Amino acid sequence: MTLHPLISDRFLCAYDPRLVASHSFDLVVVGGGAAGGLAALAAADAGHSVAVLTKADAREANTRYAQGGVAAVLSPLDSVDEHIADTLRVGRGLCETSVVSEVVSGGPTVFDHLLDLGAQFDREPNGDISLSREGGHSQARVAHARGDATGAEIQHTLHRALSLHPKISVFSNKLAVDVLFDREGCAAGVLTLDQNNAPLAFSGGHVLLATGGSGHIWRETTNPTIATGDGVAMAWRAGATLRDLEFVQFHPTCLYVAGAARVLISEIVRGAGGLLRDKNGDRFMSDYHPDAELAPRDVVSRAVFRRMVETNDTNCYLDLSELDRDPHILFPGISRFCRAFGIDIASDPIPVRPGAHYQIGGVRVDLDGRTDVPGLWAVGEVASSGLHGANRMGSNSLLEGLALGARTGRAIAAAGHASAGHAAPEFTGKTDVKLGGSGAHSVTLNLQDITYSMKSLMWRHMGVERTGAGLSEAQEKLSFWAKVVRELAPKEGRTVELLNMLTFAHLSTSSALSREESRGVHHRDDFPESDDAARYHTLLRARYEHDQVIGSEPTREPVGLASVPST
Ligand code: FAD
Repeated sequence: MTLHPLISDRFLCAYDPRLVASHSFDLVVVGGGAAGGLAALAAADAGHSVAVLTKADAREANTRYAQGGVAAVLSPLDSVDEHIADTLRVGRGLCETSVVSEVVSGGPTVFDHLLDLGAQFDREPNGDISLSREGGHSQARVAHARGDATGAEIQHTLHRALSLHPKISVFSNKLAVDVLFDREGCAAGVLTLDQNNAPLAFSGGHVLLATGGSGHIWRETTNPTIATGDGVAMAWRAGATLRDLEFVQFHPTCLYVAGAARVLISEIVRGAGGLLRDKNGDRFMSDYHPDAELAPRDVVSRAVFRRMVETNDTNCYLDLSELDRDPHILFPGISRFCRAFGIDIASDPIPVRPGAHYQIGGVRVDLDGRTDVPGLWAVGEVASSGLHGANRMGSNSLLEGLALGARTGRAIAAAGHASAGHAAPEFTGKTDVKLGGSGAHSVTLNLQDITYSMKSLMWRHMGVERTGAGLSEAQEKLSFWAKVVRELAPKEGRTVELLNMLTFAHLSTSSALSREESRGVHHRDDFPESDDAARYHTLLRARYEHDQVIGSEPTREPVGLASVPST
């Protein structure tokens, strides 16, 4: 296994408190999706002043696009034990059992909290919450809103609650660049850039990363453009331990029409009877798994991918013509979007292919969201709590973000100030980087070209199926692009995002190279079997030399070490 080093600046932009204006809060939350939103509300309810920063419009987040729903035990026919057992089975031996138990038991409380905030979920004629079944779940336990608009309802509800809370200020279009530290080395704020690359600092006694996922690092993805792995890259530069970055879930069925966004066709469509077919009209899923279309997502993604290769086609098809209810009524959002491209979902096969969907690994945290950097916390998709193991069960991620978001907000409020010099982040000691200026050389870089090349590379070598040779080749290119962008690109927001994407891409390929087995969503053609004697997490932590991060080599941690804090 040959690893190609990634050299990065420890701080991407200079911060000098005498030159950069700063706002001061008790808590700075980076991210206003499900996880950041509930954390902010919990900390603010406990009396803390909270800044919520979002890099685009405050309502734009992965949360907003969730279709299927929130998994929670809400029916007397279901039980917490069954939900736990399903989650552990799908996680293929890498779940942290204590975390699974805590999150799943918290489902009904989370749900009541959403109802209290005013969220409206679909109901049966008798008034009970209507529940669907998704792949991996042994019971119907997925609550949804307006059919496939669950995320939009949750995001709308949280946005309203955040905006109305007197202790919360929401700042949109603020791209967080780096975590800032006080003299004692505690996280004490973040430096941001606005749309004009003007710097603004937010200082706080605690910093919470709730930045969501990284789907936009891959050519095919279900994620909105904000999902560029910023939180993981920031945490790595800040010295936090990262865990299990090789585990990236690919959704098997993204709409594939040239020019269209890769909109997700939710699993509930297959749950309702949608059938996967190849270009010859043949069903194929029962060749791969006894549960056919309702097999776990990783199995369906690989099956679709293989069938595309075998039939020499760019996609497979989802056929809703045999549903016993009208798909236009069941799935109004999907129906509307497909119609815009001339596809009638009741009669036309929908072209689909897999796309990067959910980042399972992330910043290693305990149940309360603590990282191993004092004052720095993480929650939601950016974090690795240990809930999902080697594969995420559908609709468990909103549950995780909501349950652990609230828990993390309460834990931060109870922790007092980590940063002794609260509201006083230190000068980062970097003088060579000029914000908004050009790089050291007068060479024009085509950042868009590098971005698209990176996405294609990640799709080819860090996609549904991987090999050691492909991952090594990817690493070498990613190291080179990161070096060129760092040295030559103008120091502005889009460069920060690209460096974050290259950093995440490089770190995830390191992890994938080091895991020489196939497990859950990580499939190596050169190591197709699981190594059941070695159940471990992959860890990465930065090594520093002066103001630079000079790399990090993957290490291992046995499963079962998740600490359950006493707070
Ligand atoms: P997000 O909701 O993504 O929020 C991230 C926030 O961080 C945003 O506000 C963003 O602006 C901000 N941010 C990011 N970087 C920066 C930065 N550098 N500076 C400032 N702000 C920043 N899960 C389910 O459980 N059920 C489903 O049915 C489901 N369906 C899905 C369908 C789609 C199409 C997608 C994309 C995901 C789906 N998921 C589903 C996954 C789920 O939506 C996400 O895992 C979850 O919403 C993540 O929430 P979060 O709060 O961690 O992050």
